[in-house]
Amino acid sequence: MQSNSRPIRTRFAPSPTGYLHKGHALSALWAARRAERLGGDFLVRIEDIDHTRRRPEMIDDILFVLEWLGLTPAREVINQHERRAIYQAGLEELQRLDVVYPCTCTRADIIAVTGDPSAPYPGTCRSRNVPASANTAWRLRHESFADQDLSWVDLRLGRQDSDLAAWGDVIIARKDIATSYHLAHVIDDHFQQVSHVTRGMDLYTQTPIHRALQQALGFDAPVYDHHPLLMSLEEPHKKLSKRDASTSLMALVEQGLTREELLQELHPLLSQLDRQT
Ligand code: GLU
Repeated sequence: MQSNSRPIRTRFAPSPTGYLHKGHALSALWAARRAERLGGDFLVRIEDIDHTRRRPEMIDDILFVLEWLGLTPAREVINQHERRAIYQAGLEELQRLDVVYPCTCTRADIIAVTGDPSAPYPGTCRSRNVPASANTAWRLRHESFADQDLSWVDLRLGRQDSDLAAWGDVIIARKDIATSYHLAHVIDDHFQQVSHVTRGMDLYTQTPIHRALQQALGFDAPVYDHHPLLMSLEEPHKKLSKRDASTSLMALVEQGLTREELLQELHPLLSQLDRQT
């Protein structure tokens, strides 16, 4: 669990797979404000491990928007696509610990067993002794963590228990990139010594997977701060989408939105987040 000697660090870790919207601005401003309040550093990481969805021009947009918001990371921005060897070493450690196993199932194979694409993996390859090759994905054996304390402290919500079994054996290394969002970001939060993971509530449910990886790799758990999402103002129950060019911050800036206007708009929400923690 959290040790007292760690420096205070927060981070904003966007994936350059779509347009940055006001929700991202809220998240970045909140991470920076949290660091400032606690006398720590605000860091930035570009989560561009997925080459099939990575859009390099979006990285420029992210860096532009951060600068426009007046947010300067305390250290060099890191880009995940340059760190493959580090994630490979993490995967090898998980293999050595035998908490992952290779899997060759296709989506169709899984649906043929479960009948439901959203059901947890049925465990087909768990005891099949599939030979590891370049063509295998790796899944986390959730049962390896059954007796472990994967709880975490969430600043807004208090101590949270993990239900890793609800996820089943998730993919930790995709066959095409030999890693995953889960593995890469857990390794990077450790590498960047992030003490407070501030991120949107949409990632809350994935935290048990992250806690399991931290536990297996011997990393301290950060404090989490899952904050409410900024919903689309026109359709309050709809999340803002990275695919919607009309709500992109770059488009709004080009149409004349000023930093002061955006800060004024987000101010009540940031104050609300402040009050909740
Ligand atoms: N890269 C993730 C995203 O853009 C955020 C990851 C995180 O904050 O843990 O949704």
